[in-house]
Amino acid sequence: MATHPLLAQLNEKQQQAVAASERNMLVLAGAGSGKTRVLVHRIAWLLQQQQVSPYSILAVTFTNKAAAEMRGRVEELLGSSVRSMWIGTFHGLAHRLLRAHYMDVGLPQNFQILDSDDQQRLIKRIIRSLNLDEKRWPPKQAQWFINAKKDEGLRAHHLDGYDITERTLKEVYQAYQDSCDRAGLVDFAELLLRAQELMRTNKTVREHYQRRFRHILVDEFQDTNAIQYAWIQLFSGVGDPSVEPNYVTIVGDDDQSIYGWRGAKVENIQQFLDDYDNVLTIRLEQNYRSTGTILEAANTVIANNSDRLGKDLWTDGNAGEPIHLYAAFNEMDEARYITGRIEEWHQQGNALSDSAILYRSNAQSRVLEEALLHARIPYRIYGGLRFFDRQEVKDALGYLRLMANRQDDAALERVINTPTRGIGNRTIDIIRQAARERSTTMWDSARYLVGEKTLSGRARNAVNDFLNLIDELEDITADFSLGRQTDTAIKKSGLLAMYESEKGEKAETRVENLKELVNACDHFRELESDEDLTPLNAFLAHAALESGDEQADEHQDAVQLMTLHSAKGLEFPLVFMTGVEEGMFPSQQSMDEAGRLEEERRLCYVGMTRAMQKLVITYAEQRRIYGQELFHKVSRFIGEIPPDCLHHVRMQTQVERRTDQDFGRFHTGASHEAFEQTGYQLGQRVRHSKFGEGTVLNYEGTGPQSRIQINFDDLGSKWLVVAYARLESC
Ligand code: ATP
Ligand code: MG
Repeated sequence: MATHPLLAQLNEKQQQAVAASERNMLVLAGAGSGKTRVLVHRIAWLLQQQQVSPYSILAVTFTNKAAAEMRGRVEELLGSSVRSMWIGTFHGLAHRLLRAHYMDVGLPQNFQILDSDDQQRLIKRIIRSLNLDEKRWPPKQAQWFINAKKDEGLRAHHLDGYDITERTLKEVYQAYQDSCDRAGLVDFAELLLRAQELMRTNKTVREHYQRRFRHILVDEFQDTNAIQYAWIQLFSGVGDPSVEPNYVTIVGDDDQSIYGWRGAKVENIQQFLDDYDNVLTIRLEQNYRSTGTILEAANTVIANNSDRLGKDLWTDGNAGEPIHLYAAFNEMDEARYITGRIEEWHQQGNALSDSAILYRSNAQSRVLEEALLHARIPYRIYGGLRFFDRQEVKDALGYLRLMANRQDDAALERVINTPTRGIGNRTIDIIRQAARERSTTMWDSARYLVGEKTLSGRARNAVNDFLNLIDELEDITADFSLGRQTDTAIKKSGLLAMYESEKGEKAETRVENLKELVNACDHFRELESDEDLTPLNAFLAHAALESGDEQADEHQDAVQLMTLHSAKGLEFPLVFMTGVEEGMFPSQQSMDEAGRLEEERRLCYVGMTRAMQKLVITYAEQRRIYGQELFHKVSRFIGEIPPDCLHHVRMQTQVERRTDQDFGRFHTGASHEAFEQTGYQLGQRVRHSKFGEGTVLNYEGTGPQSRIQINFDDLGSKWLVVAYARLESC
């Protein structure tokens, strides 16, 4: 019997999963075994073979990029468009639900999304206005607390407040929520919680969606949290005797659960098996992504974890080359080694975009970025430092947000005095205070104060001008295209002129980014799902929800930089895993807790299994973090890789450390020579008459002032003035 074309390029297990008629299914399998591929083919199968309407499908993935890719792949398989299919991230879908039912959930029609940065600012203001000591109650911690509670489905009034800490945080939570509600702002966690409350409490809405979405498919299920799990339950109708339950397919890998720290519960997989009837479980065991060596190494590392659901992963591909391991002296050396390898890769005719540099924390990217800039290698940061997160872009968005919604306090605070227009902190404090006392938003209280005598004449005029500016911006741009609207806002507000008058490369980039924003608006294509929004509101939602997917240079061939977390689900022919040191990866905080250490190991597994052909692991013996020089041991994870999977790259010896003034800049030839003048090389073994033997680690300054850093075997690291140190080589 001829195989159906949709099943042709799948192995037997995959075919079974794609064509299964069971109501509930779990595909549990390791990295690169084709889980996502199965999901895509299953959607196509349902549409084509089972005549399911795209309208009846709800598919959830982890990133916007993954969602767009999934839609594209389904369309490719079918040869037709499937626009009415709901496919997106939990947050994106929640946003869509809230928009459709804004009245039912008590939100204004033009409610805005509060990103995490603005959320923190708002919480900080709340803490101040409650007269709490910021040192004792750090805004970041309160933010974490509030989000964690929301992720568990808890409102402030659900908390007991049994001790002073919880009582205070509860109070902050409540005041923060009141302030969001007044301003029509919704944070990320709130999107999920409110959508879940809507589904739970509104029978009509619930039944509508339960009838509509006959098929629910979820990728990366291991990283769902409590509220997301509850969501799936509500949509599927499981446990609700009044409805016929829907079809639910979940795919995941317990070994890739890496968001426990953010409330994700890998136990949800077990919970699913308990809550849903007759679940068909399919395990995929063949890996199609990586070489035999990479797979063996990753499998051996993850085998050190306990409590695994357990799975065997094999490949019939070739062994490939060993994993390259590079021990760098410091982070500069590490970055330079990586750029060298990428240049080589590129010269061999490979695309830059086929290589990725992964790191544990966002802060690590700066040095890597600088090395890439220096080597003139285009790169793209994926997630983290997003285009829409850049200061100037957020300023511009602040104006747009206010034009769309005057009640948006976060936006108002951001732009009321940017560029400076004579509205000082004192005036802003007065407005804030009045808003609090009168239980209104800052916009309304500013309007009120303009008619009062509380403010000085000058401040009053300045505030009045600002309010008029925003009103005027909205008026005159009402019929403009989105691009022209934005262009007018950045010009008339004085924002563009402010950045144009600043000097230096950074300011130039900022001006470019502002222009790029106008570009982005011009090219912004609303999704069909956004038809109920004005173009401006659709764009603002897009800006808040996107995570780097729409960066300016999207089409340019560029190296991909991202955190290990955001690499989940992706694959690249060449992967660099950097900063693989104790204290970095596993991170310092995770080393004291067994559970968290295992999560770090899963993250390591995720990182390694992103590589298709080549994996390069690097670590630095010395690293400067937040202004401190730290010495790290090589990560235990490297020790867990079978030695015959590894190839140790010989140390390179020509690296210079910057002086403090130009920290982070890569030296050009001149200072390089200066370093060589000292007669020592990094990595060289030397002897000091008093301190004994050690290794040259670092160097700074030139001429008689030059200093050298030695890591002495017995005493640890010391800085010495070269001219007096009288070192002997050994
Ligand atoms: P992860 O756990 O990392 O998300 P995954 O299980 O979702 O991985 P996919 O991304 O679906 O795996 O597949 C990994 C790679 O293997 C992809 O390039 C995919 O196209 C390829 N692949 C999967 N199944 C097959 C198959 N039967 N034949 C050929 N290639 C396959
Ligand atoms: Mg996948």
